[in-house]
Amino acid sequence: MAELIPHPFGALVTRMFTELETEKSIFDYPQKKFFIGQSGRDYSVKFHGKNSSSPLGPASGPQTQMAQNLVLSWLGGSRIMELKTVQILDELEIPRPCIDMQTVGYNVEWSQELRVEQSLHEYVKGAMLIEILRASGKLDLAENFGDVLYDMSVGYDLKGIQSDKVRRFIEGMLDASEVVEHYRKQIPEQYRQFRNLDFQTKLSDTLTLSTFHGCPPEEIEKIIDYLFREHGLNCIIKLNPTLLGKDQVRHLLNGIMGYADVHVPDEAFENDATWEQAQGFVERLGLTAKTLGLGFGVKFNNTLIVENHRNFFPDTEKVMYLSGTPLHVLGINLVKQFREIFGDQFPISFSAGIDKTNFADTVALGLTPITVCSDLLKVGGYSRSSAYYKELNSRMDNLGVSDIESYILKAYGNAEQALENIGLGVGNVSGPDVPLADACRKTLANGGELRKVAGSEAPVANETFEKWLSETKLLNTKTYVDEVTTNARYGIEQNSKPPRKVGTMLELFDCLTCDKCIPVCPNDANFALKIPPGETEILEFETNNSGWAVTGRKTLKLEKKYQIANFADFCNECGNCDIFCPEDGGPFVLKPRFFGSLESFQSFTNHDGFYIEDEGTERCAPKVFARFDGKEYRVSETGNTVNYSGPDFDIQFSKNDLENTISGEGKSSVSFLNYEIMQMMRSAISATGSGSYVSAT
Ligand code: SF4
Ligand code: SF4
Repeated sequence: MAELIPHPFGALVTRMFTELETEKSIFDYPQKKFFIGQSGRDYSVKFHGKNSSSPLGPASGPQTQMAQNLVLSWLGGSRIMELKTVQILDELEIPRPCIDMQTVGYNVEWSQELRVEQSLHEYVKGAMLIEILRASGKLDLAENFGDVLYDMSVGYDLKGIQSDKVRRFIEGMLDASEVVEHYRKQIPEQYRQFRNLDFQTKLSDTLTLSTFHGCPPEEIEKIIDYLFREHGLNCIIKLNPTLLGKDQVRHLLNGIMGYADVHVPDEAFENDATWEQAQGFVERLGLTAKTLGLGFGVKFNNTLIVENHRNFFPDTEKVMYLSGTPLHVLGINLVKQFREIFGDQFPISFSAGIDKTNFADTVALGLTPITVCSDLLKVGGYSRSSAYYKELNSRMDNLGVSDIESYILKAYGNAEQALENIGLGVGNVSGPDVPLADACRKTLANGGELRKVAGSEAPVANETFEKWLSETKLLNTKTYVDEVTTNARYGIEQNSKPPRKVGTMLELFDCLTCDKCIPVCPNDANFALKIPPGETEILEFETNNSGWAVTGRKTLKLEKKYQIANFADFCNECGNCDIFCPEDGGPFVLKPRFFGSLESFQSFTNHDGFYIEDEGTERCAPKVFARFDGKEYRVSETGNTVNYSGPDFDIQFSKNDLENTISGEGKSSVSFLNYEIMQMMRSAISATGSGSYVSAT
């Protein structure tokens, strides 16, 4: 139905804890795959002067839109959440599907699909859920892994950003007390101990600016200036890969990496800021930020605008946005180009084809935050990020380091050269720096936290350490850019194979039950439905002058251990689960769809599905509303009497004796197939208890 509907906060709290207890998972993310830090290891970094327990975070995108998405990101080890971009036009019609992850990653989606105010509420709810989870002590969270930061993202032009709607959003993020109080009251009685938590009310004072592809450079500068002066925000500008220039982009993308069929239109370069223009506004905004005492940096990169050359999105979309693997090479080349001019003067946030192999490399370059989107849309979803830490841990183990700064210094063996470059080389150092240089060298060889050795609280030594670290980051950038640019893993050959399809069509029940569709959904819309295997007799009746009589008997056979279903309120029909499902047709289209309210069931009449209304009385079982092939059906029970109605019948019978008690109106024959399916849905949802979104409403 393509419209996301936020879930009640109390129901999210209940589901989180119930599911953890009964299923050992949270929002379908298995506990055994959580990444909750590692004892004795400190991944902390600073972002605009504040501490975050890790540089990793979801990029502004599908993983940071709904409250549950933020919890899922956090469970995967993300600690800097770049929230989905908010902008004035909040009733957009986005083409569906909007994400094509068949190969490298293309999309036609852009900002939040919720209303601006709903976005603020979802961000506050997500942060509160994380706080509650943390305070519950139910997870074995490592020391040093509790600090999480939320970074706003707004777009796309000055006028929109100055509008009342966006202004209220920014003010709401700066002071979310009202929203926090609103949700504090909704924490269910069973979890009342969390109502007293000291929830964060200044949710964010940092912002990453997203501008349109083709936004004039003067406009970008004005927006940041406005955000500095009007809202006092620490800002990052997200820049486009087109900054590399036409020749370099085409050389890397079409030439070296071999994506010959991907064409970046000339206008993409002509309309975007040039390198010189960007250099100019970065210098000026850097000075303004310094004067105002605010943080300022850049982000590499935005997605790359390319011609729509595949048959995935409708022809009406002339362009689409490339993300994922090849963007990594472009992004790293931009980091190098930027650092050649500015050194380590400005912090760099990074997002371009991050995965389990290169995350540790970007950490070595001192990039913060390192945000990811495309990779988390692949099989395994949010849990893929635990593999990033596995790789980082293994490299840290090999180097004998336990903190990020020491890791940066030792990652590529550039620390000695960096000491030399800052004037502390063997033989060319004198005076008070001699013992310092010696101590650094000794710790490099023997292990230990290098800042502690070099810093020793003295301001001069700390300054020297910063210089050393900065110089190492610059050298690491050079080392890595050479390695990455020609690495075949980014080229077309290793990135052109779509996920395997087996050639069968999905049906309402039974499938390969591979479970891939559950974690690949960024909103956790797909879930396992507890319908056991078995055979059900399906009766068919006909009415005549003497009443109803059985005219047929068939069997509905379910073979799989459980079934797959979709929660419509969380499904924006992005299409991602269809890409990774080995069968055809799309789980979100063909599997049983549940609506979270009667209102949404009744609004989306062109979507088949179910709504289960629990009236909560002992005599009445939950009512089931259903739509099959666009026709509506209803089952209700009072005591032993069942009422089953459909488009052209309205019948009653006793639950224990259908064949002999059936009565009512009907124009023709009535098959009980839909009735049996509706009963199965009701039993399955009841069996899941409050561990399911559907029953939680
Ligand atoms: S269920 Fe599928 S189509 Fe719907 S939001 Fe999730 S991934 Fe996208
Ligand atoms: S719907 Fe597709 S992806 Fe989901 S479990 Fe079935 S076969 Fe696997």
